[in-house]
Amino acid sequence: MIIALKHDARAEEIGDFTAFLEKQGVRVHLSEGASQTVLGLVGDTSGIDEEGLMARRLVEKVIRVQEPYKRANRVFHPEDTRIEIVVAGGKTRLLGGGYLGVIAGPCSVETREQIVTVAKAVKEAGAGFLRGGAFKPRTSPYSFQGLGCEGLDLLLEAKRETGLPIVTELMAIHQLEVFDGVDIIQVGARNMQNFALLKELGRCKKPVLLKRGPASTITELLMAAEYIMAGGNGRIILCERGIRTFDSYTRNTLDLSAVPALKRHTHLPVIVDPSHATGIAWMVPAMAKAAVAAGADGVIVEVHNDPETALCDGEQSITPDAFAALMGALEKYAEFEGKLLR
Ligand code: PEP
Ligand code: MN
Repeated sequence: MIIALKHDARAEEIGDFTAFLEKQGVRVHLSEGASQTVLGLVGDTSGIDEEGLMARRLVEKVIRVQEPYKRANRVFHPEDTRIEIVVAGGKTRLLGGGYLGVIAGPCSVETREQIVTVAKAVKEAGAGFLRGGAFKPRTSPYSFQGLGCEGLDLLLEAKRETGLPIVTELMAIHQLEVFDGVDIIQVGARNMQNFALLKELGRCKKPVLLKRGPASTITELLMAAEYIMAGGNGRIILCERGIRTFDSYTRNTLDLSAVPALKRHTHLPVIVDPSHATGIAWMVPAMAKAAVAAGADGVIVEVHNDPETALCDGEQSITPDAFAALMGALEKYAEFEGKLLR
């Protein structure tokens, strides 16, 4: 971090300020020019509050050289993180670090028949994980809110029937009590900056699928991951799911450039959700393939046995047949990228 001081900063003030900075565990190098003094901070600056520094009278400008996240940073952990999940029979399923993970299933769990039918179909097509929301974050309080605990039970039944590990959204801390059988906890886009929730997940032993907020920057997503990691849980999968832009043709705008950007700055696995990114079923296969070609470690895709009657997100849900065709293509994309699909 570099701190440029005002030209009228007094020696005594600079001395006090330097002592204040050193107390925070960094070394301070002072460079005095003819008209300006600059402080160079070396060491771990992640705990230093830039805005707080700007409030000081003698500070002209603060330039951060190091990224504000440490545990999520590839600089301190060059190898890719691989998420390992133990499934029925002691086998493991992997995502990241050379393994492409495909998560598929309906937006919401609706009935036993629906979730089990979709689970069997996506398993048959080669999906590695089953998704399905039990607690749903809906824009309108009058829309279907998910089946709650009953939905979780049905999801667990689909897990028992197929052996697929399950991914489902946690909306509030108290719901953790009923998440015992869940394999990956999803933090939805709307909760990406729910810091109380993130802190609690830091204390949790389960992997977390962290979705990017629709108006969040890449650095904010990484800082959200840092919250969970700072609490002691390093098993995080980041997910680009589209951001809000001026264009309304698609539900969101898939920021595919986030994939190589994230992969460059973090060792955590990065996946893409082409369903929420586009909101349009016929676009999903193209964007899923593009995600893998861009270097994503996986995709999460909404699949419904009868999209027309789906209680949530039917317009962006692909059918089991379309999903099977997509899996055929993804196998080739995975091979081209040198990744293993199962
Ligand atoms: C979902 O995955 O069903 C969902 C609600 O996603 P997001 O949080 O990305 O909107
Ligand atoms: Mn959905």
